[in-house]
Amino acid sequence: MIATKEMLRCCRRCGLYRTRRNVVIGRGDPNAGVVFVGEAPGEKEDEQGLPFVGRAGGLLDFVMREISFEIPYYITNILKCRPPNNRNPDSGEIERCLPWLISQLEIISPSCVVTLGGIAASVLLPSLKARRISAIKGKFYNTGTTVIYPMWHPAYVLRNKSRLKEFIMDFHLLKVNLK
Ligand code: SF4
Repeated sequence: MIATKEMLRCCRRCGLYRTRRNVVIGRGDPNAGVVFVGEAPGEKEDEQGLPFVGRAGGLLDFVMREISFEIPYYITNILKCRPPNNRNPDSGEIERCLPWLISQLEIISPSCVVTLGGIAASVLLPSLKARRISAIKGKFYNTGTTVIYPMWHPAYVLRNKSRLKEFIMDFHLLKVNLK
């Protein structure tokens, strides 16, 4: 992944290179069987150059500890640069950045990709794009090359605390199916 990382750090395929502080490539085990994919880096991620190090990442860590999720994983986002003010990525940015994620997934070759939030699910499961994340999450979708498991984004769960129990249950279902 070295060549890819060097190329990615210099990427100017979309306008987000103008406002980023760091390109946020990913972190975790590059040989992992499961890869989590969120939407885009936020402020802390942009500052530190690492994904899911802010409050949403804190919730993921909390849930993993709660259910003893000890399976090696890699975590990244659809976009590698932060959209200003954490706005949603636009379709042009997604289109230009997606080849980086596809390349990461080809190299890691995980047996399961967990999408976090509606945007990541709609990009990696385009046939289900019209359906709400709440209707498709917590189920496994076989694409022929991998299995995709959509979940809520932890930032959404932070804003909607009543969803936490269900989020933990979805995580537990993932864990028992990855064993
Ligand atoms: S968001 Fe993706 S496509 Fe846009 S500059 Fe960053 S790495 Fe390149």
